[in-house]
Amino acid sequence: MRYVVSARPKRLSIFPYRYCQFWNNHKGCLFCDIVPQLKRGKEQGIPARVAPEEVAAVVREALKEPGRFTGLCMTGGSVLTGKEPLDDEVDYYIKVLKAIGQNFEGGRFTSQLIATAFSDKQLRRLHDETGLSSYTADIEVLNEAMFNWICPGKAAAVGYAEWKRRLVHAARIFGRGHVDTSIVAGVELARPHGFTSEEEALQATLNEAEDLARQGVVTVQTVWAPRPNAALGLQKNASLEYYVRMTKGLHELRVKYDLPVEFDDFRNCGNHPDTDFSRVPVIESAIADLPIKLSKELVAALKDPTTLSSLATSDASGAPNVALGLSLAVEEDGALAYLEPLQASVTNRNLTHSLWFNRPVALAVTSEDGQRWQIRGVPVKAHVCGPVFRRHYERIRREVGDTDLAAVWIIEPRAVEDESLKQAAHDALHPSFGHLDLILKKEELHA
Ligand code: SF4
Repeated sequence: MRYVVSARPKRLSIFPYRYCQFWNNHKGCLFCDIVPQLKRGKEQGIPARVAPEEVAAVVREALKEPGRFTGLCMTGGSVLTGKEPLDDEVDYYIKVLKAIGQNFEGGRFTSQLIATAFSDKQLRRLHDETGLSSYTADIEVLNEAMFNWICPGKAAAVGYAEWKRRLVHAARIFGRGHVDTSIVAGVELARPHGFTSEEEALQATLNEAEDLARQGVVTVQTVWAPRPNAALGLQKNASLEYYVRMTKGLHELRVKYDLPVEFDDFRNCGNHPDTDFSRVPVIESAIADLPIKLSKELVAALKDPTTLSSLATSDASGAPNVALGLSLAVEEDGALAYLEPLQASVTNRNLTHSLWFNRPVALAVTSEDGQRWQIRGVPVKAHVCGPVFRRHYERIRREVGDTDLAAVWIIEPRAVEDESLKQAAHDALHPSFGHLDLILKKEELHA
């Protein structure tokens, strides 16, 4: 099994084919040492090519471990032969993917193929004949002159402009956020023909990455690890500052063009520093600038005395606090009124901090019939006297009896999530997050 698959954090990586025909004509990528590695593997008895049925059986066996894998990734070297160039590579992958697909219920399963940039017809076949969900064709370096020098095999077989065009076409077939390309970041600075300035290399790379992002293709980076057996040999790598800026730049492009990269993120690959950033929330978009209107159902639940609610606040250092069993009301203008009974409570202090520094708070609301919402909002006013305070003071004294009131906090709702729909909406938005053992055919699961 270990010759066919290996494991990343949540991904099963499959290497069914371990040879790259660019090396036949001495046109392997200059940073690559796959063939010397293959020779070492041969000595250890690792087969260069595995039968599709064997790959499928190994995958089936590996997925018997519950909650372990959310995705499959398959890769091998380029195969240039076939009726049309690369047809043999495509045919082999189709056979393997079809064999693997027989393990699952339904058509598409979370999977990534890292392969050569295929023609439109070949991409269409891959999509239509298999359950493959995402596709990667690594361009390695985002500059035409560097590509021609560093990737002579890819340049001769496909060409830089055509490689990019095929990536864009793949994004039309597999969808935005389902196609990416990796660069070996730093190799564009290699001697003797690389960029001589990090600033120039960074700008050139990010400009090309933006051109792809605009058209729905994600660029991810691996850090160039100069290898003694590769043509470029051991060279000094780019500075840490360069990688930090590249990481930030690629992440910002994904945010700007709203491009997810879930199939190649920290869970599934872990090889791309920039995709680690995908777990950093974009706080700015989580809360609207203006108040929003609450739904009729939520207003009804907030007015119902059987509804349970809690309020989460934090202090200046970020320490959280949750208050339970709240007394809430909905004002005529749609704002929420939270009735705080204790002047010296942590909640009262935290709300004051939120009011002064415009920090959001969160309310969780559960109705008697099981509907659940989360409301994020901003405290905009604290009534400690006057008509609003008096109205609520008199009401709770009437309804609850012998109680006191310190402040009526007015909280403007800025975002509402219907938690009852959350699981279904989450699954629909992020199909690649689900564990693959959950879609295994039943008889396979219990075999
Ligand atoms: S395409 Fe380039 S990087 Fe990939 S295996 Fe072939 S020579 Fe190596």
